[in-house]
Amino acid sequence: MIIKKFGGTSVGSAERIKNVAELATSDSKPTIVVLSAMAGTTNSLVEICNYLHNHNIESATECINNLEKSYIKVVEELFSTSEFSEKGTQLIKNHFDYLRSFTLSVFSHKEEKAILAQGELISSSLLHLYLNEKGIQNTLLHALNFMRINEDLEPNYPFIVENLKHEINQNSSEIYITQGYICRNAYGEIDNLQRGGSDYSASIIGAALNAEEIQIWTDIDGIHNNDPRYIKNTRPLDYLSFDEAAELAYFGAKILHPASVTPAKVANIPVRLKNTLQPEAKGTLISNITIQKGIKAIAAKDNITVIKIKSGRMLLAYGFLRKVFEVFETYKTSIDMITTSEVAISLTIDNTTYLNNIIEDLRKFGHVEVDSDMSIICIVGDFITDSKGYGSKIFNALKDIPIRMISYGGSKHNISLLIKTDDKIKALKSLNSELF
Ligand code: ADP
Ligand code: ASP
Ligand code: MG
Repeated sequence: MIIKKFGGTSVGSAERIKNVAELATSDSKPTIVVLSAMAGTTNSLVEICNYLHNHNIESATECINNLEKSYIKVVEELFSTSEFSEKGTQLIKNHFDYLRSFTLSVFSHKEEKAILAQGELISSSLLHLYLNEKGIQNTLLHALNFMRINEDLEPNYPFIVENLKHEINQNSSEIYITQGYICRNAYGEIDNLQRGGSDYSASIIGAALNAEEIQIWTDIDGIHNNDPRYIKNTRPLDYLSFDEAAELAYFGAKILHPASVTPAKVANIPVRLKNTLQPEAKGTLISNITIQKGIKAIAAKDNITVIKIKSGRMLLAYGFLRKVFEVFETYKTSIDMITTSEVAISLTIDNTTYLNNIIEDLRKFGHVEVDSDMSIICIVGDFITDSKGYGSKIFNALKDIPIRMISYGGSKHNISLLIKTDDKIKALKSLNSELF
């Protein structure tokens, strides 16, 4: 089995959906096609939810109607027979009538999740109908029947494996189409795997079925050595190890959802990143093989908050760090970077939902300082312990930028630095010229 995930831009218009139909069916192997919503749709659905949340029914309705119009245009361009044009139009009408029904009902997080799920449900149904019109046999699998997360928001693998296999065995097919991003939570309610989560869906499905390969088709020819949104002339990397790719995804390389490498790594399934707009380009192959040594890529993660706890009690004491970590455990908030001195500890978080509670609890241990609007710059490569010179190159590149924290030696794949977000682009540029 091969898993092929196509992102928002890859299914962003009728023409692109036709192109995906070709790429999705180009192998003679059984394939599961995992689709994102069409580009811009999830943002529009978020906007609709925000209006509903603020009881602005008029703007919500206007936004729903505008989005519906754009989908009617897609249907007109996608199908060539009146039979399938009608089916497509009916499909869109059903989804948008459903969306409009929320303007009349109470609005809570439950309704919000149901609204956010519509983008993937529509794109997958459109591809399914298009392949049917072309006479290409395919089966639509409903992710809400098999994709499930547990109370810790982790994939519930026993449930996923059992139900996905059951769905597949019910309909023998060479091509299955399903939705990325959407799932059910531990209570059976509609939920999702967070923004950009279709990559994660593909990886989870690949791991659940022990697939031969997981392909992530997007709008760029693989993982680049720096963030192409800020830096010119970045270049794609041919190979990365799972560990290197996981660090880059976790620390801000938007091309992959932060959690998406782990399922593939655990199941040892290669992940290939490919460009829909340039299918002949080599792309990036992520596997358990480490190819070159040295620095390979740079990424940056924003919205980081740093917390410093200063305490005389820490001096020569044991058990202090445990108490500090317990506070973060209580509030299910994960820590990204840590540095310690004899009397202080600094650590970073990206989820500030419980920041006030965390600060209050930490005050029992000492003086607490908080700084927000920080970014982690992550330099990824294969830094074997006896290698030298990397530190000096990095510090030289950042000689004009204040560095708040440094993490080196935690793993042999990552050197991380914490700086102000205002300095991020400057830091990425200087590191780019110094390191590559
Ligand atoms: P999709 O909609 O297919 O999931 P995304 O927009 O989520 O696509 O991810 C692709 C984008 O990620 C690229 O267009 C690029 O701007 C951005 N990106 C950020 N960092 C990197 C990187 N290191 N390599 C490649 N792309 C990156
Ligand atoms: N459609 C969702 C989003 O825009 C998931 C994804 O594209 O991966 O975040
Ligand atoms: Mg994405």
